[in-house]
Amino acid sequence: MSKGRIALLLVIVLLAAAFFAFDLGQYFRLEYFKSRQSFIDDYYRAHPLQTGLLYFAGYVLVTALSVPGAALMTLAAGAIFGLGWGALIVSFASSIGATLAFLASRFLLRETIATKFRDKLRAIDAGVDREGGFYLFTLRLVPAFPFFVINLAMGLTSMKTWTFYWVSQLGMLAGTIVYVNAGTQVARIESLGGVVSPGLVASFVLLGVFPLIAKRVVDTVKARKVYANWPRPARFDRNVVVIGAGSAGLVTAYIAAAVKAKVTLIEKHRMGGDCLNTGCVPSKALIRSAKFIAHVKRAHEFGIRTASASYDFTEIMQRVQRVVKAVEPHDSVERYTGLGVECLQGEAKITSPWTVEVTGETGKQTLRTRSIVIAAGARPFVPPIPGIDAVGCYTSDTIWDLRVLPKRLVVLGGGPIGSELTQCFARFGAQVTQVEMLPRILVREDPDVSERVTERFRAEGVNVLTGHKAKRFLVDNGEKVLVCEHEGNEVRIAFDALLCAVGRLANSAGYGLEELGIPLAATRAVETNEYLQTLYPNIYACGDVAGPFQFTHTAAHQAWYAAVNALFGDFKKFRADYSVIPWATFTDPEVARVGLNETEAREKGVAYEVTRFDLAELDRAIADEEAHGLVKVLTVPGKDTILGCTIVGEHAGDLIAEYVSAMRHGLGLNKILGTIHIYPTLAEANKYAAGAWKRNHAPQRLLAWVEKFHAWRLG
Ligand SMILES: Cc1cc2nc3c(=O)[nH]c(=O)nc-3n(C[C@H](O)[C@H](O)[C@H](O)COP(=O)(O)OP(=O)(O)OC[C@H]3O[C@@H](n4cnc5c(N)ncnc54)[C@H](O)[C@@H]3O)c2cc1C
Repeated sequence: MSKGRIALLLVIVLLAAAFFAFDLGQYFRLEYFKSRQSFIDDYYRAHPLQTGLLYFAGYVLVTALSVPGAALMTLAAGAIFGLGWGALIVSFASSIGATLAFLASRFLLRETIATKFRDKLRAIDAGVDREGGFYLFTLRLVPAFPFFVINLAMGLTSMKTWTFYWVSQLGMLAGTIVYVNAGTQVARIESLGGVVSPGLVASFVLLGVFPLIAKRVVDTVKARKVYANWPRPARFDRNVVVIGAGSAGLVTAYIAAAVKAKVTLIEKHRMGGDCLNTGCVPSKALIRSAKFIAHVKRAHEFGIRTASASYDFTEIMQRVQRVVKAVEPHDSVERYTGLGVECLQGEAKITSPWTVEVTGETGKQTLRTRSIVIAAGARPFVPPIPGIDAVGCYTSDTIWDLRVLPKRLVVLGGGPIGSELTQCFARFGAQVTQVEMLPRILVREDPDVSERVTERFRAEGVNVLTGHKAKRFLVDNGEKVLVCEHEGNEVRIAFDALLCAVGRLANSAGYGLEELGIPLAATRAVETNEYLQTLYPNIYACGDVAGPFQFTHTAAHQAWYAAVNALFGDFKKFRADYSVIPWATFTDPEVARVGLNETEAREKGVAYEVTRFDLAELDRAIADEEAHGLVKVLTVPGKDTILGCTIVGEHAGDLIAEYVSAMRHGLGLNKILGTIHIYPTLAEANKYAAGAWKRNHAPQRLLAWVEKFHAWRLG
């Protein structure tokens, strides 16, 4: 705990202790006030301003310290100042005092609570962001909830201070007026509890829940309104129709069939979508062949005098297709039909919130369904750079058709897809120029991570050009040329083939979304709420078409929520949980990440400590001639709570799984350190990173004493 926090805690504890030690509570009893009322009245008549200020300060102090007395003081305000002035003074004093208690609770406890219960608090914060004002208003209206508990509890959430202040003031106003008004008749009151009758409390409760009920009604009416122009079928013949049989659609259909729903999966192209046909599977197969060649070139590092690989690019690309074919049965119509999914080949179009038209080889048919899940994926974005059509360009969709290795390849884009393919083609022997307009490749990762990959690329002969903006393409004397702008100068790059890998756009047009008025985000992805519902609550979207991530595992993760919410959402809906999302870029060295890196932590203002373990130290990495890379862990300062981890090196994508589990289940570095890791494995790096953290946090003073103890024991 910081010095400031300790000091504030001491002040609060001392003041609160003094309150109880000196029995100051006796001065906040009704009988005491009545016995001193005439004296107080005289003082007020003689010194109205001082009385008001003293009272105000006292009220703020009592509420800020969360000690008992506010109820009596509110009554007293009525007795001393009358209804108008009394209510005004109490209203401001109570709100300011409550806000001070709220701030103190936040300052003293939020960080500790956030560290211990990060996932739970994140969910609460999300709820507070959405409806916190409503809940606070309800709690404030009902005198049954102790105000000091509300102040302290709200301080632990992410509620904005100003929101807390004004909602509190508004919410407490009715209760304040009732109490202050009662105070004007203080002589007739026998006890503080008697001020509000059960009937009055019930009225407050009603008043409090009214805004919530009203909001629910408005939400329901709004939801119904979007359906107003669409005739609802009298009955449905499917529980859910899924559009697109990529990672997201397949998992959605699988889950629906597993829970015995009637589900139809529609695919217009190839089962398995991008991942199987043009994405993860072919790219990883290509990477494996390229890695083999890279190893052969490094033969001498393994004690082998000479080794050579004779290969034909066509055969490598044929092998890639063999791998795709081998995986194909996992995503096939046969398998899914066997699982209970109706698979239709054809183009789907949403024609109403409950109908999907399928145009296939056998004609058109219309399916009536209770819910629809859009899993239509994304496609490569080809930027409208002048001349690009004239030179022609490959994308991640078409590069798999290539059978002749281009001599000179330009790869536009320094993201994961561009980087993975850059290295592959360079390893096969193409002269590759990778062009990125940002200052570095793999820009989502920390600069030192990008640097390691860039260094390796350059060592392998890739011409990595960062800070180069593609301006135009031209054909000069029969030669294709890319003209870039770099630091105000024009740079010309001659090439034979161009691969464009500058991002992927959601497939959100041409199948009914426009007609239904389903809104899109700025990225062109289908806009969804946290339950993955679109504007129409029975139409869901997941995977690349919805974002925000574009990975197979996130598509599958979202698919669970889309399927379950689409089928059971009338009873219980689940918010998609993005709290721990990992990913990897399968370059050599591999880069894997979960949670925050340093760049993001700084951008978000999250305090962190960083611990590094260099893979150069790892026995297995040395034995494998892969002694390069690092494990970089971000933790909460002074704690072993993991905020994020980046691993660079051999099999980083596999190694990160331990940190993903740890973060998912709230385990800290001490738990990783306390877990036996098999020797000698690359996975030991995870433990050594935890060990490095432990060493940095060794209790030096205690160890100095222990050293003395051992010296003493020597006799
Ligand atoms: C080169 C490359 C490498 C990648 N590597 C990885 C990786 O290593 N790891 C990883 O996690 N991710 C990787 N990805 C990303 C991954 O492939 C995608 O995130 C994933 O495929 C998204 O799945 P999806 O189901 O959302 O979409 P898709 O797989 O695109 O599936 C959507 C399907 O919907 C169909 N469809 C669209 N409209 C209609 C319609 N109107 N009617 C019927 N059918 C329709 C399409 O034909 C398509 O088959 C890679 C991507 C690429 C391009």
